[in-house]
Amino acid sequence: MPELPEVETVRRGLIPVLEGKILRETEVYRDGLRYPFPPLFRERLKGRKILNLTRRAKYLLLNLDEGYTLVIHLGMSGRIRIEDTVSFMLQKHDHVVFYSNENKVIAYNDARRFGLMDLVQTAHLTDHPLFRHLGPEPFDDNLTPTVFYELLKKRQHSIKIALLDQKLIVGVGNIYASEALWGSGIHPFRSSHSLTLKDAENLLDHIRKVLQRAIMAGGSTLKDHQQPDGKLGYFQHQFAVYGRHLADCTTEGCAGKIKKEIQAGRSTFYCDACQK
Ligand SMILES: [Zn+2]
Repeated sequence: MPELPEVETVRRGLIPVLEGKILRETEVYRDGLRYPFPPLFRERLKGRKILNLTRRAKYLLLNLDEGYTLVIHLGMSGRIRIEDTVSFMLQKHDHVVFYSNENKVIAYNDARRFGLMDLVQTAHLTDHPLFRHLGPEPFDDNLTPTVFYELLKKRQHSIKIALLDQKLIVGVGNIYASEALWGSGIHPFRSSHSLTLKDAENLLDHIRKVLQRAIMAGGSTLKDHQQPDGKLGYFQHQFAVYGRHLADCTTEGCAGKIKKEIQAGRSTFYCDACQK
């Protein structure tokens, strides 16, 4: 499933081909994805200029002229690829294809169709049901250690579960929650409200580091997207604990092994020896 760093990589990959460009034509090959497409979807996109591309949580936001934003969520298996109009070939599971005025094709491919596209009035975006309950972005300057500490204090769940709650903080995701907790030496089963201000500061710092590192890894793969397949957003990561069940912990001086347990239906990877 694409996590925040993948979505951010897709955004950065799309900027050069979409920002300031016109949507000349859009082809839609089914009625919808997770939800139906908005009424007159093709017609309303025709001729719109893309002012800029932003992101909120795991939603890509294509801010259009005339006051609308095209919201795209990749769901479980959504992929976006960029091709040239002359060589474009429709592939299986291509559900929406955008044609720019500069002879580029952006194809949205989604085998499982858990993705989403909607047109929302830009001025009312924050009040929209998709967005109004979302917590702060991990890189938001207003999310200070003290603010984060106060948010964590209100939660009775374990800290790992709290980090996955999009009302508390968006975009950390299952993989990066395990990684950030390991990096900060905090045990995933500890209750959220037991964290001290110093713990919260340490954890926030590691959340930012693991996400930043993944975004950088994604960014370094972007040049590969000039290749004909043009696929955006999936890249190889190096993880410290995620997927490393029974491997040696790499914390300096730690002789522990990585454990795997299921918390609220999701895998948690951690080291009992150095995470307290
Ligand atoms: Zn360890």
